[in-house]
Amino acid sequence: MSDFAKGEVWLVGAGPGDAGLLTLHAVEALKAADIVVHDALVSVEVLAYASGAELVLLGKRGGKPSPKQPEINARLVAEAKAGKRVVRLKGGDPFMFGRGAEEVLALVAADVKFRVIPGITAGIGGLAYAGIPVTSRDVNSSVIFLTGHDQTGLSPVGVDWSAVGKAAGMIVLYMAMRHMGEISGKLIAGGLAADTPVAVVMNASLPEMRVLDTTLERAAAEIEASGIGAPAIVSIGQGNLLREQMTWR
Ligand code: SAH
Repeated sequence: MSDFAKGEVWLVGAGPGDAGLLTLHAVEALKAADIVVHDALVSVEVLAYASGAELVLLGKRGGKPSPKQPEINARLVAEAKAGKRVVRLKGGDPFMFGRGAEEVLALVAADVKFRVIPGITAGIGGLAYAGIPVTSRDVNSSVIFLTGHDQTGLSPVGVDWSAVGKAAGMIVLYMAMRHMGEISGKLIAGGLAADTPVAVVMNASLPEMRVLDTTLERAAAEIEASGIGAPAIVSIGQGNLLREQMTWR
């Protein structure tokens, strides 16, 4: 791609894993890149498009030792200043719980030119692979996207769980596997029915995708019993019931 100039950083969304969900811009950027700095969620199939580039894994992974954000920012700036075409490749969409904003601000501060290429987020496209529409006219007219843990790794403080339960017909949780018991308990205490349908979609869009259908009350125990774990996206709401008719994969 001719407009990917040397010394620029392109922040690219890789989607949830199935390489067919890459945008045309993403593929062109991967082909033109000198270096691809990717996070742990990016699939092998996606990285294959960057066959001419140096691949560097630098990203956060819940529970495992991972580089500090300033270190990642500094690396992006250094590679750009060295005159490379740098792709910063993130799972899903870079601005959905992906620290994309922090990285862009670091590039701005260092006077590095950049471009943002959005991607398909797990909380919409990943759920679609499990036959779950994130909205549907007869079921819900609003969605909330929430992270299941904050920067400290604990379940996020300062969330008004009762307000969350009332505000949206569908709640989509990222990074929630470790705190599902606590989160479900708070949502039920806040007024959501204990039998609200919950779907847990692990490795959404990939061949090894697994889906658990459960309820708010049973979710934590069934997650544990089923062995389903990260990366998984959790949807809470009546829309999950459409899965029965809408599963296509
Ligand atoms: N920027 C990403 C989200 C990063 S946070 C996006 O837009 O999708 C990491 C969390 O995303 C994971 O803990 C999980 O909740 C979710 N996730 C990402 N890829 C996933 C996949 N293929 N299947 C299920 N969940 C996924």
